[in-house]
Amino acid sequence: MATIGHSGLEATADPAATADPAAGGRLLGAIRAALPGLRLLDDPTDREAYRNDETAYLQAGLPLAVALPESTAEVATLVRLAGAERIPVVPRGAGSGLSGGAAGIEGGLTIALTRMNRVLEIDRANLVVVTQPGILNAELKAQVAAEGLFYAPDPASYEICSIGGNLGTNAGGLCCVKYGQTRDSVLGLEVVLADGRVIRTGGRSVKDVAGYALTHLFVGSQGTLGIITEATLRLHVTPPPRSTMLAFFPSVPAAGEAVAAIMSAGIHPVTLELLDHETILAVDDAFGLGLERDAAAMLLVESDLPAAAAAAELTLAGTACEGAGASNVVRAQDPTEADWLRQARRLALRALERQGTVRMEDVGVPRGRVPELLVAIQAAADRHGVRVATFGHAGDGNLHPNFIFAHDDPRAAELTHRVRDEIFAAAIALGGTVTAEHGIGLSRREALVDQVGPDVIGVMRSIKAALDPLGILNPGRVIEL
Ligand SMILES: Cc1cc2nc3c(=O)[nH]c(=O)nc-3n(C[C@H](O)[C@H](O)[C@H](O)COP(=O)(O)OP(=O)(O)OC[C@H]3O[C@@H](n4cnc5c(N)ncnc54)[C@H](O)[C@@H]3O)c2cc1C
Repeated sequence: MATIGHSGLEATADPAATADPAAGGRLLGAIRAALPGLRLLDDPTDREAYRNDETAYLQAGLPLAVALPESTAEVATLVRLAGAERIPVVPRGAGSGLSGGAAGIEGGLTIALTRMNRVLEIDRANLVVVTQPGILNAELKAQVAAEGLFYAPDPASYEICSIGGNLGTNAGGLCCVKYGQTRDSVLGLEVVLADGRVIRTGGRSVKDVAGYALTHLFVGSQGTLGIITEATLRLHVTPPPRSTMLAFFPSVPAAGEAVAAIMSAGIHPVTLELLDHETILAVDDAFGLGLERDAAAMLLVESDLPAAAAAAELTLAGTACEGAGASNVVRAQDPTEADWLRQARRLALRALERQGTVRMEDVGVPRGRVPELLVAIQAAADRHGVRVATFGHAGDGNLHPNFIFAHDDPRAAELTHRVRDEIFAAAIALGGTVTAEHGIGLSRREALVDQVGPDVIGVMRSIKAALDPLGILNPGRVIEL
């Protein structure tokens, strides 16, 4: 099973859970016999493409093979056959994850759900969509938009991540502040369990308290409790086009104060994003937006209310920003400019990556403590002489500190380890979390223990053992077994 160094950054890829060297060959033979039409990649070059997700700095394992099933029955057969040989299984969506959750396990079987990418039904009367997991978030949004409907969850990576991965990580994004995280949009699931049984949880009812909340348990479990093969998701009637405001601040804490003031002003913006000075410069350099380049921080605030109500909402947000010391408050001229600004924010990580190697973190605190978290992030980076650019979903109390190093800087792993440990400690001390949306995966397991303590880890282990007694589903991710 995969093990991990103390830093959480150098996962050592041990051989698969089985000690039997012939097991891999037997599994491939059994898969070919049971599923002759299945696309099964066993060429080393193909398999290499499935070693990492977006956490390329983690040392992940090379899968024995990559299966690309097209049906729930195929997924169930694959899991059953892998279980018979005690071979670990890694469920994978589009591989855009930022915690190593879909990274390969040496000698394991990666099951990529990308071919199960069909929308099965758009049920307008009940405002739900039933979908397979492999569809990209942006594609699902586009298909329901064509029916005048809106699927809310909106990770910045929406063009490159799958619904299955969003469910696996309980993805967040730019409009959680109004519509919640992925979990808040999930009504029901079809799940393949570790022994190959297929269960359905929930359904189309918006109220359902029958038994334990299994739907919510599977969402965010990073493929360690079951493989999601179908999801029933909540929709909304398409809201009006966004109205957008930018506010610039002379200091980062002032922007943090504005976030707290907006959230307590009785308004409900759909987006409340923060970009610090480094991020403003990187985004402006990359996309030529004409942002206020000497500002210490900027807030991007969006409303999706009808025009007059949106104008009133943004006026209140602007007043809150000015009260917190904003140097300038401006509005996008039209929805096209608003879309352009949102897209630039979505590409903030890519803009920073033009400057070097970027290690992104994902801490969260209660919203009112965002100013203190911002100060703690900068202080930790300064103590270790690390360049940090911070942006994130400030309206959710969720910030992404990004540590930037020269591509060939040999101290990157060590310094990242030191700074992030201090930031994790600060987030926990502020009543927050070491990951708000990217997940524990491989890269934050020690930090999870620090956050929740041994009793909670014990409960998580009991749940894992009940659902996956052989420990074949994404072993070593989220918790150590
Ligand atoms: C530029 C960039 C911006 C990003 N912005 C955001 C953001 O704003 N918000 C955010 O939350 N994340 C963000 N991410 C991270 C990432 O895109 C999300 O975590 C996304 O949900 C991963 O989806 P994926 O399809 O790529 O999943 P993968 O990376 O393939 O998998 C993610 C996890 O889900 C599990 N999984 C995948 N499919 C299934 C399934 N069918 N059943 C069970 N488990 C499954 C995997 O085992 C793994 O643990 C960003 C990433 C990048 C590169």
